[in-house]
Amino acid sequence: MVSPATIEPDWDGWRSIATASAAGINLCWTCGACDNGCPVSLATGRLRPQRNVRMAVYGMIDELLAMPDVWYCLSCRHCLQGCPNKVKPYELHLYLQNEAVRRGIFSTDFVTAYHRLFAEFQRVRWRTVVHCFKKKLDFLPDQTWYQWLKKPLRHALYRPIALGQNRSVQQLQKPEAILNGQACFTCSECSSCCPIICDGDVFDPQRIIRMANLGLVDELLRSPTIWLCLGCQHCTDACSQTVSGYAIIRRLQLLAIENGIVDPALSIRLLDADQIIYSKLLDEIDTLIGLFRMM
Ligand code: SF4
Ligand code: SF4
Ligand code: SF4
Ligand code: SF4
Repeated sequence: MVSPATIEPDWDGWRSIATASAAGINLCWTCGACDNGCPVSLATGRLRPQRNVRMAVYGMIDELLAMPDVWYCLSCRHCLQGCPNKVKPYELHLYLQNEAVRRGIFSTDFVTAYHRLFAEFQRVRWRTVVHCFKKKLDFLPDQTWYQWLKKPLRHALYRPIALGQNRSVQQLQKPEAILNGQACFTCSECSSCCPIICDGDVFDPQRIIRMANLGLVDELLRSPTIWLCLGCQHCTDACSQTVSGYAIIRRLQLLAIENGIVDPALSIRLLDADQIIYSKLLDEIDTLIGLFRMM
């Protein structure tokens, strides 16, 4: 009987990753909570943060750079939020992305195309929310996928959809709806660090907070935009005024449900839809990798 090959740790690879990335890989005790919280893992099974961290601990940098997974990460930080030891798999993925460019495996043209794809993908997510306001997304034909991906969405943030009962702003604008948003002095830090800011017309935390402060809560509650937030809380960490963009957006989502503007089943429909749209996104990333990989 042939015994399986033993994996020998590559200490140089381990040292490079452990010192150059801010992921804290040495603290991982392989509990698997990051996999269970990763939306890409849950939707597609094609990104396994725990495995990637384990490979990094073994110094398998060449193997990691050969895998497309590095480019599948959304930087949503759900892996960190679920990790008992505060390991940051997304920092590992970011380090590996930069390392792939530094080694000449990919050019900056690839990175530009990759970020453009993410920007276009937010249009797909916005249109998916509009669809899921009414019904489940069972199937997305390629033709529709490309229409949703490529067709620009102008001023989507300001386009409330007519849904549910027509309540007045006064009824909806409870003080807790906007939390401490009034402290915002519009510095844009939250927007700069938001991983889905690619197109400010589709999603922009600063604009959402500004609209809430101006009393445009009714418009926000009817806008598909508030459902795009990934919950990473980068905006909250970055705000010198301690405004929590994430908490405000989450509160708006709950208000939309509590006030009968959106169906409580929307969140479930969106999770189901993620299986379809994330799979298609990863296929697009694979295509880009095939086109641009230089070695
Ligand atoms: S949640 Fe943290 S400790 Fe658990 S496997 Fe993931 S990185 Fe390791
Ligand atoms: S940042 Fe999000 S997508 Fe990336 S590994 Fe963590 S949970 Fe998964
Ligand atoms: S970082 Fe804070 S103060 Fe600056 S725009 Fe965002 S919410 Fe406002
Ligand atoms: S609004 Fe805040 S929590 Fe939501 S995706 Fe952007 S940075 Fe993350």
